Amino acid sequence: MVADMVRQVGGDRISVVGLMGPGVDPHLYKPAATDGLKLNRAEAIFYSGLMLEGRMADLFARMGRRGKKVYAVTEGIPRASLLEPEQFEGHWDPHVWGDPQLWVSCVDVVVAGLSAVDRAGAAEFQRRGAAYKKELAVLHEWAAKRIGEIPKAQRVLVTSHDAFNYFGKAYGLQVVGVQGVSTVSQAGLADIAKTADFIKQRGVKAIFVESSVSPAVIQRISKDAGVRIGGELYSDACGKPGEMETGGGESYDVGSYIGMIKHNINTIVEALK
Ligand SMILES: [Zn+2]
Repeated sequence: MVADMVRQVGGDRISVVGLMGPGVDPHLYKPAATDGLKLNRAEAIFYSGLMLEGRMADLFARMGRRGKKVYAVTEGIPRASLLEPEQFEGHWDPHVWGDPQLWVSCVDVVVAGLSAVDRAGAAEFQRRGAAYKKELAVLHEWAAKRIGEIPKAQRVLVTSHDAFNYFGKAYGLQVVGVQGVSTVSQAGLADIAKTADFIKQRGVKAIFVESSVSPAVIQRISKDAGVRIGGELYSDACGKPGEMETGGGESYDVGSYIGMIKHNINTIVEALK
């Protein structure tokens, strides 16, 4: 999602290398042997922050201390807008891209970061950043309207891990993540039984697997609760760049942030409405 934002703002003036590809879990991602070289060569490094990249954070901080231009894009989000759910044990919830209105706030960090390494491009980054922010605002309006197609009582989102708190807050969905906030801890049998009971009680019509998390737990709950799996959502990674999908009467690239949100919204609405 961050690589896509940097591409959107930078356009042809820059070349972007993303370290984590489609289906990669950022909580568990460890730098690959070749990542050090890529990071050393970079003029600027952008990452999400809020401890999302748990095993990369030290490396980013170290590079920043050595004078590399390193930016956590979520620094642009007003702290008052951040969620601190109980189960996060004193940490912010890092999954802010679930709400395009918050993701908008990250664009300025990218504009400033790119402008710092390419002053001649500053006006263009500013212009492209403003255009991208507008696109994100349109995306949000569209998403809110589509969620309105789901009957109120069915606005419940059951997924593997707690990646959808901001998404749920933005669109009025009750969110239940079986596995907790990060994928580091595994869901226990008690979590599975509790979720299955909740699904039966509430008459939830469908539950969802995530592209960057093993589907085993959701498959088990689907069986136990007799509920269908409504599809796969992109939680902590976009899809393959260039992979086009048609949904809700339009085509979009699921390898982009906007396409990822469209895929998620369309999948959820079709399964729950
Ligand atoms: Zn996550």
